[in-house]
Amino acid sequence: MAKELNEAGFKAKGFNEETGKWEKDYEPYKAYAEDPETFILGVVSGAKEINYLKSIGLLNNGRCPMCGKNIEVPGRFTSGYDPNCHFQICQSCVNKGQGVSINPSNNTGCMLSLLFIPWYLVKAII
Ligand SMILES: [Zn+2]
Repeated sequence: MAKELNEAGFKAKGFNEETGKWEKDYEPYKAYAEDPETFILGVVSGAKEINYLKSIGLLNNGRCPMCGKNIEVPGRFTSGYDPNCHFQICQSCVNKGQGVSINPSNNTGCMLSLLFIPWYLVKAII
């Protein structure tokens, strides 16, 4: 999915070292984010990206983007960041998702920030 988004000109959010901030549309999507669950929940953040992935058949194509299984009875995942950002997932992932905090406190962002902070501290010390 990263490749398709890059080819379509979409950009991922990234850490700008000069400003010390996370910025939207900063850098190309990276292959390491191809772990589907992380990718779709953490990296792909906007309805326009989701809608693009739908239009090229990478979402809502009968396969669940979370686990890769065929979707028999589609469920809907809606992003906590953006209600326009939604796609089909399978029932077992719907059930798994209940009780898991998908929103609203931007868990992925916090986790990423925590991971990155020590690295930038280490770099500053060197
Ligand atoms: Zn699933």
